[in-house]
Amino acid sequence: MRGKPIGDLTGQVFGRLTVIGPAPKKGNAATWLCRCACKQSVAVQATKLANGKQKSCGCLNAELRARRVAAFRTSQRRRFLPRDNFASGIDWDESL
Ligand SMILES: [Zn+2]
Repeated sequence: MRGKPIGDLTGQVFGRLTVIGPAPKKGNAATWLCRCACKQSVAVQATKLANGKQKSCGCLNAELRARRVAAFRTSQRRRFLPRDNFASGIDWDESL
């Protein structure tokens, strides 16, 4: 019985990606079909997996970007809509 072929990454985990099998080659680059933690399938070059250049289908980058935007919006809201002013506005309306 033969062992696994050299360079077989099936079953290995790279960040959010789990290698599920070989993908059709693009040129000479060995490419692997991976399943991301977000359930997306993506083909990734073996070299990018090996050197840590790609650890997700792209959702990791998108998430980090969204988190930065959300943090920025929260800081803007705090600056322009202070909770104390809002509450005192309601009190003033009720006293009419
Ligand atoms: Zn993903």
